[in-house]
Amino acid sequence: MHAMVLERPGQPLVLKTLPLPSPSEHQVLVKVIACGVCRTDLHIIDGELEHPKLPLIPGHEIVGLVLKKGNKVLRINEGDIVGIPWLGYTCGQCKYCLEGKENLCENALFTGYTMNGGYAEYTVAYEQYCFPLAAQYANASGSPLLCAGLIGYRSYTMIGEDVTNLGIYGFGAAAHILIQLAIYQGKKIFAFTREGDTHAQAFALKLGAAWAGNSNQSPPEKLDAAIIFAPVGNLVPKALLDLDKAGIVVCGGIHMSDIPSFPYKILWEERVIRSVANLTRKDGEEFLKIAAEVPIKTETEIFPLHEANKALDNLRAGTIRGAAVLVMNPEN
Ligand SMILES: [Zn+2]
Ligand SMILES: [Zn+2]
Repeated sequence: MHAMVLERPGQPLVLKTLPLPSPSEHQVLVKVIACGVCRTDLHIIDGELEHPKLPLIPGHEIVGLVLKKGNKVLRINEGDIVGIPWLGYTCGQCKYCLEGKENLCENALFTGYTMNGGYAEYTVAYEQYCFPLAAQYANASGSPLLCAGLIGYRSYTMIGEDVTNLGIYGFGAAAHILIQLAIYQGKKIFAFTREGDTHAQAFALKLGAAWAGNSNQSPPEKLDAAIIFAPVGNLVPKALLDLDKAGIVVCGGIHMSDIPSFPYKILWEERVIRSVANLTRKDGEEFLKIAAEVPIKTETEIFPLHEANKALDNLRAGTIRGAAVLVMNPEN
């Protein structure tokens, strides 16, 4: 099979021909239909997330067709279309798993980071961590839901019930999905982008944002909550300044540049800052159900597998609108 492989952080991926992986106990062999390109992949490839499996096939937003079951696979069958997310395995026994916080599992494995992922024609995955996908998402449009969508959803569940005005900082893959859910649930959205990114601002307005502007601008109304998807630590004190009393800033990324110091008074009055890490299977089940109800439509920019480096470069440069997705057979 063909795969794009990370041999060493800081280097471009290399197209390789590799033997087909074979599913072990509890695993399925999946023919990859599409795999999203996520900012986390950049953090891994650039070396900001340390100790990846090497060599590594990145990619953790996989839509694929189940071809073969390993031993003891009970729930999934050949011919099923599944989504494979970032959370690839948990131990079920550490204190976090026992408390229902499997996203923080001490022994977790992550797809496309500590296990091989979906920048390949085939992959294997533990069946318990695969999600069944609704028919409308059994193609490239489903890929961005599996991380951008899921992490956005988990961030959104942290803002609490009483939020009307929600600020979203960084208007890429995660934001373009979350805005649809948030508006469906009656929120008023304020979208912040890189300075001068009028494309992203127009995109946010098209999707129903009440206001869109540069991240250094003040919104026209105080915010009840802010979700930061851009990996930019400066946005944390900026978002605090935009918040009303008792508002919350949720940092949705896995990596962020350092947060500069700021005066205590912008945190005071019970404002909160928190992060979000990974996902639980419960997040995935809830989110994929509601995504199909809304229904959330993703905007994708398609690349063939061998152009993964180009997709990553465009993501780094901020020129992707919506989400970049690698499609294994784009001519079909
Ligand atoms: Zn665990
Ligand atoms: Zn991701």
